[in-house]
Amino acid sequence: MIRVRLVRLLGMFLAAVVLAGLCGFAKAPADRDVLFQSSVLDALLAGVYDGEFTVGELKKHGDFGLGTFNAVDGEMIVVDGVVYQAKAGGKVLVAEDAAKTPWAAVTWFEADRIQKLGEVSGLADLGAKVDAALPTRNLFFAIRIDGRFKMVKTRSIRPQKRPYRPLAEVVKDQVVVLFEDLDGTLVGLRCPPFVKGSNLPGYHWHFISADRKQGGHVLDCRFTGLVAKIDLIDGYFLLLPGQEDYFRLDLSGDKAGELGRVEGNPAK
Ligand code: ZN
Repeated sequence: MIRVRLVRLLGMFLAAVVLAGLCGFAKAPADRDVLFQSSVLDALLAGVYDGEFTVGELKKHGDFGLGTFNAVDGEMIVVDGVVYQAKAGGKVLVAEDAAKTPWAAVTWFEADRIQKLGEVSGLADLGAKVDAALPTRNLFFAIRIDGRFKMVKTRSIRPQKRPYRPLAEVVKDQVVVLFEDLDGTLVGLRCPPFVKGSNLPGYHWHFISADRKQGGHVLDCRFTGLVAKIDLIDGYFLLLPGQEDYFRLDLSGDKAGELGRVEGNPAK
């Protein structure tokens, strides 16, 4: 009797697994302290700029995070459950649910810690000051900073056309915008060193103005008297692309050098 029930339960479980596979849907754990990520950064660096994953799907996995859009058409900023698109030049639009992303990472933001930052003189200084509040460098962290910024230097990328060039080439044409004395929000992720190839080890910041009209990928910033709200994240869910250009890619090389050129400040 017990055996029959076990077999039946096993059958139901297998049916559920097969059904999930057939539907092709990815289900992240219900735990809210999970960084959900679509695709890997090395694929983006190699020029896989068109994903199949939609903004509507992404919003089911988090309300806070960052990424980019198909054809690397601007920078993605996810804050308070809204997905924004900072176009080249810094103008921000609300992304439609049908828009697609080749790379994005989101989580459900809940502040576990608050850290006073005092005077912040640049991006490296910001990293050091947030680091001082962290219990370890081996978890993921989402960081939110709201307030008035003395200076934020951002960049966005113009939409690319096929055949796509590698991202390190494309960012040479990035559009840099300098914001001064502007209210806004910094949306940050801090990843541990072992994500190399998949995400960006260390800090990655995007900015959006308080009126949600301007923003981009942060190259530099200065501010004083703000606090960092920090969310500790101990889960990582990675959804990989199912398309041909990703399947054919040779990801065996180390792209750390290219990543530095793409994410860093070209003026430095
Ligand atoms: Zn970015």
